[in-house]
Amino acid sequence: MVTIISDIGFCYGVRNAINELKKAHSKFPILYLNHPLIHNEELNRKLMEDNGAFFYNPKTKLNPLGSVVYSAHGHPLEEEIPFKEIQSFDAICPLIVKRYEFLQKPVKNATYYFLGKKNHQETLGFLSRFPFLVFIDSSLDLLPQLKELRPSGKTFLIPQTTVSQDSFQICSDYLNSKTELLGYLPICQLYSKRTIDAISFLKKVDKKKSYFVVVGDKTSSNANEIYRAIKKSYPALEGKIALKITDFNLKELRGKDIYITSATSVSEEEVKSLLDSFNNCGL
Ligand code: SF4
Repeated sequence: MVTIISDIGFCYGVRNAINELKKAHSKFPILYLNHPLIHNEELNRKLMEDNGAFFYNPKTKLNPLGSVVYSAHGHPLEEEIPFKEIQSFDAICPLIVKRYEFLQKPVKNATYYFLGKKNHQETLGFLSRFPFLVFIDSSLDLLPQLKELRPSGKTFLIPQTTVSQDSFQICSDYLNSKTELLGYLPICQLYSKRTIDAISFLKKVDKKKSYFVVVGDKTSSNANEIYRAIKKSYPALEGKIALKITDFNLKELRGKDIYITSATSVSEEEVKSLLDSFNNCGL
């Protein structure tokens, strides 16, 4: 038996990024990308092929009829330098734009902490625009970092949109206990809802007879966070991040109930196609 246990399909940020790419292609025959537009390698390749897009590298000779498209989770400002002479399109998620707007008017004498993954495009985008942000690396132990930073006075917490709920909680609890935490921005609800729904559904299943799948690309931050949160809640439950039927050892799945959730950068069609493949294999 194969069951879908959360929302599936693109979030509005990914839909917005794809629309922006198409809009750019309707005006410019050649498009340059610095990074994958979205964290879904196969889909990204197809989108690039269909829309005349190429990855830029420092040796690329820019065509003046081309245009650059910046990716969905933001980019550091220095990435704009080579493209000053050509038109640009920004496929950034509107949720991140709202965060930029919020940070345009920082409260005087408050310290703003940014919790995110080091070297993630979103993190680099925030740190380059708002140098006053104090960085906390979500992929390292949080408490030693927080203790070393010795936060005090008025503070704000800005998390990367797809950081895990528990790392966000650890930071906000710590800042609350040591400082006057004036506020925080939430993590992306579209991604966190999938995590919460999947964990709540999987509570009632027999962990030994079940297997969960996060349909997604291994490079996707939210696919990894959803997977990690499920494993943290149910360590005995087996599962993996995967996109296609060929990613599985089908023998291991025989006799198991399969539960499917999905990253926000995977289309509904991709999830349904995997579901059909499982059904066609008699799972
Ligand atoms: S997961 Fe959330 S933050 Fe990321 S692109 Fe989608 S809506 Fe935007």
